Amino acid sequence: MYADGCAPCTYFISVLETDGPKFAAALEQHAKQYDVEILNLQRAEQLIPAADNNGLVGIRLANGALLESKTVILSSGARWREVNVPGEKDYRNKGVAYRSHCDGPLFKGKRVAVIGGGNSGVEAVIGLAGLVGHVTLIEFGEQLRADAVLVSKLKSLPKFVFHTQVQTTEITGADGKVNGLSYTDRASGAAGTSSSKAG
Ligand SMILES: Cc1cc2nc3c(=O)[nH]c(=O)nc-3n(C[C@H](O)[C@H](O)[C@H](O)COP(=O)(O)OP(=O)(O)OC[C@H]3O[C@@H](n4cnc5c(N)ncnc54)[C@H](O)[C@@H]3O)c2cc1C
Repeated sequence: MYADGCAPCTYFISVLETDGPKFAAALEQHAKQYDVEILNLQRAEQLIPAADNNGLVGIRLANGALLESKTVILSSGARWREVNVPGEKDYRNKGVAYRSHCDGPLFKGKRVAVIGGGNSGVEAVIGLAGLVGHVTLIEFGEQLRADAVLVSKLKSLPKFVFHTQVQTTEITGADGKVNGLSYTDRASGAAGTSSSKAG
């Protein structure tokens, strides 16, 4: 996606604007209202199956301590998947973004490309469509992998095109900002480009 910068934390219903540390501190205060024990600065290093730990799941911490429980909920976060092409790292936060919900407003009226036609990519396009000037969706496989209901909604959008069987090869830029991307059509082998400028 093309973007000019990174937005502060602004997308949470009922919170007009805040920042990460403030928001996390408020969440911690809220959690403390309940019967919850919080162990900060502890790293879980090993998950031991109940069958190997007297019927209770074990969590081995980096400091050697063992926690035991009937149930363990894993919520260690997710990471965005990088495209791993030249230009991606150079233009991160200068046109390359990974969070369409948060960063979408930065692209108001602009031409953007979304890489990936699974549920996340198609939802990103649907969300961006009412905001940006034009969206190009680029999918590596032969068809979009998103759910049919999302693909149907996608195809009803006016300012949008998609390419399948296309491999992104480079994110290009000038003057410190993204200006487009290069790709190869995997069926024909032909090279192509998508520009952030109209035309
Ligand atoms: C710059 C930025 C701005 C954002 N702005 C918004 C916004 O405005 N609105 C919005 O809704 N979302 C925003 N998001 C997205 C939001 O932060 C995430 O969706 C949300 O934090 C995901 O929560 P999580 O609990 O799944 O994962 P995380 O918040 O990643 O929490 C996972 C936690 O698990 C801990 N952990 C991982 N491994 C271990 C281990 N082995 N042992 C112990 N602890 C471990 C990590 O230290 C971390 O504290 C933003 C994200 C970023 C990066």
